[in-house]
Amino acid sequence: MKAAQFEHHEPNTLEEAVSLLDSLDEPTILAGGQSLIPMMRFRLARPATVVDLNRIDDLDFLTEEDGHLRIGALCRHVDVEESEIVAERYGSFADAAPLVADPQIRNRGTVVGSVAQSDPKGDWGTVLLAHDGEVVAAGPDGERVVPAEEFFLLPYDNMLDETELITELRVPIPADGEGSAYHKLKRKVGDYAMVGVAARVVLEDDVVTDAGIALTAVDITNVSVPDAAAVLEGETPSGALFKRAGEIAADAANPESDEHGSADYKENMVRVLTQRALADAVERATQ
Ligand SMILES: Cc1cc2nc3c(=O)[nH]c(=O)nc-3n(C[C@H](O)[C@H](O)[C@H](O)COP(=O)(O)OP(=O)(O)OC[C@H]3O[C@@H](n4cnc5c(N)ncnc54)[C@H](O)[C@@H]3O)c2cc1C
Repeated sequence: MKAAQFEHHEPNTLEEAVSLLDSLDEPTILAGGQSLIPMMRFRLARPATVVDLNRIDDLDFLTEEDGHLRIGALCRHVDVEESEIVAERYGSFADAAPLVADPQIRNRGTVVGSVAQSDPKGDWGTVLLAHDGEVVAAGPDGERVVPAEEFFLLPYDNMLDETELITELRVPIPADGEGSAYHKLKRKVGDYAMVGVAARVVLEDDVVTDAGIALTAVDITNVSVPDAAAVLEGETPSGALFKRAGEIAADAANPESDEHGSADYKENMVRVLTQRALADAVERATQ
């Protein structure tokens, strides 16, 4: 099916985009179009006006600056997949990128678009949560920075106002002794996660001083599990410790049974993937 008729706006600057979002009636933002265009073609979305960000070159970046990895609104999944900075220091991002959808979607789809879409099965929100990341939004009243922890509200819903757009995502540059990993269970290549787990640890003298654990596809949003991360802190990494964290994460998960697996199976996979992601994160932290 073809999309219903809509007005297409192509601002060249962020200021122009913000002004359009403020003045148009119920505007919808278009980035990579990998979620929005299919929804429009199925008539699940019928925006009257679309504000297309693709001409705003200033939003196309992936860089380390001011103590953060900064991911601009036009950074595609493939840019993360091919980034040397990411490959060297951001294990969970490097793990997640090639597991998102398929190569065609990764060539156009954006990391920010995935977070904006706020699908509980999306991978990037989980990685952002495990890294204590932030969402930077611009609107008619200026810029605001929202902790990822506060961003996701419900499936496909977040705290962005309709006159706002996300300009970038930020995560702190890893400390010395920091490592992270992302593990994802999916039925076949190209699928969304059945279960995903991001883990991050910081080690000092073989003791965990900070940690983050977050989950994909087992709750109404991407969620972090602070209790599972807290159990690691002050402890020396071990299989038994990872198992305890995995059990806490599994208890915190609220998966639903569906045609791909029962809720019990998914909970068990949270337990298993948490242990695996932690083991990888610790190995990377000590390299
Ligand atoms: C078959 C298939 C499989 C997929 N598998 C996965 C997967 O395994 N993991 C995963 O994470 N994702 C997956 N996706 C989603 C994919 O990652 C999309 O690229 C992503 O969800 C949306 O990014 P986009 O740039 O294409 O956004 P668009 O489709 O352009 O927009 C998506 C939504 O976000 C809003 N939006 C976009 N950019 C901004 C912004 N800067 N500020 C505010 N709002 C904005 C739009 O208005 C729209 O509501 C899959 C998609 C498909 C079709």
